[in-house]
Amino acid sequence: MTNEPCAPWPIAIDGPAASGKSSLGMALAERLGFLFLDTGLMYRAVTLAALEAGVPAEDAAMAEFAAGLDIRAEAGTTTRILLDGKDVTNRLREPAVEHRVSDYSALPSVRRAMVEAQRAIAQRGPAILAGRDVGTVVLPDAPVKLFLEASPEARAARRSLQARRWGMAQEAAEARRDIELRDRLDSTRETSPLRPAEDAVVIDTTDLTLEEVVRFALEVLGCS
Ligand code: C5P
Repeated sequence: MTNEPCAPWPIAIDGPAASGKSSLGMALAERLGFLFLDTGLMYRAVTLAALEAGVPAEDAAMAEFAAGLDIRAEAGTTTRILLDGKDVTNRLREPAVEHRVSDYSALPSVRRAMVEAQRAIAQRGPAILAGRDVGTVVLPDAPVKLFLEASPEARAARRSLQARRWGMAQEAAEARRDIELRDRLDSTRETSPLRPAEDAVVIDTTDLTLEEVVRFALEVLGCS
């Protein structure tokens, strides 16, 4: 009996903030036995490190800083991030990071360093990568690309629920303001803006449960 994965890989999942990328990615990783890399956590970790070191969100200043950073992404069925060998995953949703991550991730020097690391992880074995530019820039040849969308109301409600679970309670109205600001910055930046790849399958998850989205994704992957 062979143990070939039923789905082709790598799998790219992109979409705006709180559209369900990580929930789908983790669920698929579990069903398929793939690795899951949440690339957003890598940008959050760079931001955390830069804020702590007082490095401004400027390309020249960040070029050297990002290249010298010891960031390790441990992709399993979830993603954990080690900064200088220390697990910082639980700090990456803090408001200070949330409010600045789009500024740091817009910098070409930061993106160069992260994209290289992400491609290396994707080559290790069957993997699912979620982010903003996975299908367009990181893995343009990925055989399956999914792009998730959902209404701002649905995304804000989901984020508000998640935030409570992360111990950082946030009202839906405030979550919506944060999400909309990040989406605007992420989709209007010059380098690797958020947009669906031409060959991406777009899924509107507004009225779908996670299980329904997973089922649809498995159909697209040919694994249903
Ligand atoms: O996915 P998440 O919302 O955690 O991502 C945090 C931020 O990281 C995004 O708002 C975006 O600025 C940046 N990001 C990115 N490219 C990716 C993933 C995330 O620019 N591939």
